[in-house]
Amino acid sequence: MIQADVIIIGGGAAGFFTAINAAENNPKLKIIILERGKEVLTKVKVSGGGRCNVTHAEFLPKELTQNYPRGEKELLGPFHTFMTGDTIAWFEKRGVELKIEEDGRMFPVSDSSQTIIDCFLSEAKRFGVEVLLNQAAKEIQKETDCFKITTTTDTFSAKKVVVATGSNPKIWQLLKDLGHKIIPAVPSLFTFNIKDSRIIDLPGISVIASVKVLLQPQFPPLGVRGLPLLITHWGMSGPAILKLSAWGARLLEPLKYHFKIEVNWLNDVSEEDILDSLKAMKSSQGKQTIYKYAQFELPKRLWQSLVKASGIAETLTWADATRENLQNLANQLTAGIFEVTGKSTFKEEFVTAGGVDLTEVNFKTFESRKVDGLYFAGEVLNIDAITGGFNFQNAWTGGYIVSQNLASPCPPKEGRDSVF
Ligand SMILES: Cc1cc2nc3c(=O)[nH]c(=O)nc-3n(C[C@H](O)[C@H](O)[C@H](O)COP(=O)(O)OP(=O)(O)OC[C@H]3O[C@@H](n4cnc5c(N)ncnc54)[C@H](O)[C@@H]3O)c2cc1C
Repeated sequence: MIQADVIIIGGGAAGFFTAINAAENNPKLKIIILERGKEVLTKVKVSGGGRCNVTHAEFLPKELTQNYPRGEKELLGPFHTFMTGDTIAWFEKRGVELKIEEDGRMFPVSDSSQTIIDCFLSEAKRFGVEVLLNQAAKEIQKETDCFKITTTTDTFSAKKVVVATGSNPKIWQLLKDLGHKIIPAVPSLFTFNIKDSRIIDLPGISVIASVKVLLQPQFPPLGVRGLPLLITHWGMSGPAILKLSAWGARLLEPLKYHFKIEVNWLNDVSEEDILDSLKAMKSSQGKQTIYKYAQFELPKRLWQSLVKASGIAETLTWADATRENLQNLANQLTAGIFEVTGKSTFKEEFVTAGGVDLTEVNFKTFESRKVDGLYFAGEVLNIDAITGGFNFQNAWTGGYIVSQNLASPCPPKEGRDSVF
């Protein structure tokens, strides 16, 4: 039996952040990270296309929470303790400078996720955190005043256990056995597959739009406004669609990703207002052909496609347009209906909604309300965010708060070979 003060299951972002901060907070603690793989921090490595989108330049806790379809309410308090500014300062203190990109995403100035990994590995080593590889936790048992954790090869005992295993169904089952409710996993953050003649030839075009998912009245409304919508080879993507996919993750899964959306290519301009503008064009630019000159600052090819879809001939002038022509065009511009027939993964970025039910966690400490001494950090919880650095921010915030609650050490016990 290998004894420690704290066992952290999972050598990913949340596990390392917890371990380093706990060890810094109390250097006397014997902390062991158990990692099932032969390497640690593998997701950090591939994150952000190899650049690691560490966090997002949003500095108000309330605003930051609005990027979490699951976790919005629960993260508000924790963000008052540790959020973006703290993340930046944490890395800066360790010689890792972060930069902000135009859209608010923050990366290491090196543009390499290895910088983050190197920082974590050297900090873990500096504070004496033991990292054990090829140690998949198979069993977690709560005994009177400690936990027994059985891995493929060893047995460990510790007073406090932090589960930081990401979205792992096997661990969720172990937590179920300990009395926790697990919200079943469904995909979040995906793009919409749409085969439609209006967009088939327009991949690469991006417009600020509003999009509504058309659902039966018994479902809550689902829509976004004022976000970039990107037409792709297979349908639609971009922040507007990704946000819908994250907020609609639970609603859209039972529909097997078959539903209709309504797109307003002019964002929040109403059909009536656009119809008035089109009528005004009929009087003011009667000789011009409708098809030839794009209006409302729409990309020309999108305008032409929507004009065609309205049944307007390429040669028709504004003067010759009928009321029906204008009505159809106003409708295509502001309320075009598209049929979604499936989903695709966004840039290999698999994010899963689901995990430990948030009502069973005390968010002042990230400790289980069911099992004393059991803590959670990162994606193991039913928390997920849209793309942009928010998922890692959840791991940093949770990890930091857990670390501050792992204070008291056990008496020194036998050691073990580690990767360092
Ligand atoms: C391709 C990709 C790119 C991404 N890019 C970004 C990005 O740029 N910015 C962002 O904010 N988010 C990004 N994300 C999401 C982000 O990576 C996750 O939210 C984050 O890694 C969650 O951290 P975690 O520590 O909770 O889980 P993980 O990083 O998944 O770590 C969990 C660790 O636990 C280990 N483990 C699991 N089960 C066991 C067990 N039984 N015993 C022992 N160990 C176990 C796993 O092997 C793993 O090492 C990306 C995701 C992917 C897939």
